[in-house]
Amino acid sequence: MRWAPENMAEALEPEKKRRRIEELTDKMAVDGGCGDTGDWEGRWNHVKKFLERSGPFTHPDFEPSTESLGFLLNTCKILVLGAGGLGCELLKNLALSGFQQIDVIDMDTIDVSNLNRQFLFRPKDVGRPKAEVAAEFINSRIPGCNVTPHFKKIQDFDETFYKQFHIVVCGLDSIIARRWINGMLVSLLNYEDGALDPSSIIPLIDGGTEGFKGNARVILPGMTACIDCTLDLYPPQINFPMCTIASMPRLPEHCIEYVRVLQWPKEQPFGDGVTLDGDDPEHIQWVFHRALERAAQFKITGVTYRLTQGVVKRIIPAVASTNAVIAASCATEVFKLASSAYNPLNNYLVFNDVDGLYTYTFEAERKDNCFACSPVTQKLQFPSSAKLQDVLDFLKETSSLQMKTPAITTTMNGKNKTLYLQTISSIEERTRPNLSRTLKELGLTDGQELAVADVTTPQTVLFKLHFTS
Ligand SMILES: [Zn+2]
Repeated sequence: MRWAPENMAEALEPEKKRRRIEELTDKMAVDGGCGDTGDWEGRWNHVKKFLERSGPFTHPDFEPSTESLGFLLNTCKILVLGAGGLGCELLKNLALSGFQQIDVIDMDTIDVSNLNRQFLFRPKDVGRPKAEVAAEFINSRIPGCNVTPHFKKIQDFDETFYKQFHIVVCGLDSIIARRWINGMLVSLLNYEDGALDPSSIIPLIDGGTEGFKGNARVILPGMTACIDCTLDLYPPQINFPMCTIASMPRLPEHCIEYVRVLQWPKEQPFGDGVTLDGDDPEHIQWVFHRALERAAQFKITGVTYRLTQGVVKRIIPAVASTNAVIAASCATEVFKLASSAYNPLNNYLVFNDVDGLYTYTFEAERKDNCFACSPVTQKLQFPSSAKLQDVLDFLKETSSLQMKTPAITTTMNGKNKTLYLQTISSIEERTRPNLSRTLKELGLTDGQELAVADVTTPQTVLFKLHFTS
């Protein structure tokens, strides 16, 4: 059983439902238990208010029921990706909203610098896997909640694993990982005679934060814009315009950038060719003092040693309150989808509290030729005289593709042929000469299919080569 507005409510047949509730009552009743869910009296009153009565904003098809709570508590399986700043918040919010079957994947261990905001962790946990400590904390603190931790990469699991969940929530800091899980959920869709089978949809709720900015979005794979549909929204790297840095600085960051980009290469303070090392305190001291001088010249305040190091090392500070806002809205969307009681966010929420407070929602649109969620074969248009290197650069640099280490293979005379593969050094060496060959020299023809594998997607992407004259 997977998500679709109609089948969520019918998740359990009446007889099964009754038996499950009875079992649960026997197993979980504690002193003062109220019977129907096996918990103490009033435990889920806050949740029941949404499930057992309708209101002006409930979904037109929603039927209030005293049985929906059982679905949330016992049947609905949620997967949380990431147990960091967003992940800790998400786990706490979901568990307190009644979700009791939660899995969490995180490949990181706890660092002392996490403790100010990743509140499920204590100093004694430093060095231990985040997923495990987070699960232990939630399970011991929230009776009945069953968080299963996975100290692994999301790529370590296959589709059978992902298929078991009703909803996936992301609190990831990596775009590659987001794109990968997005591709995985798209690959699970079933089409019958070209029509999408709604029960094959696993909704993806994605939260992201960067300093004082954040976003939350609801993705119904195959129906609404996916991560790759909106890839242009992730700029490769935020840089300050050179004219601002050079002639009209307004922020302390501009002064630091000025020293980093212009003054350091010109003055070579630590000898010719010595590059600025963000971990060398003497280097940072030098930049800090020059940045202070420049700031004084333009009457700008706020240049500190810490900020200098942050700008030089491109550190974006994590802000606990931003995580709290974004995780709360993601958890709310999970609740809306799982209960089918309310319309989900449509579909992209922007939050910003850099200058005061700002929120905005808009409907991100699907891209007809999205290479992750559109079923059409992608076209690659090149003259036959183009080199394989040009194709590789195109795959990496086009804003709608942004691949990292694409491996290109094709079929020639019935045999698989690797044209270029970067991730295994012996194959890279063997296929490197192909990069400087033209498509024609490689024996490729108009209409030839190229299969491209990359870390950003679990599926090989097929491209059709079209020669332009
Ligand atoms: Zn898409």
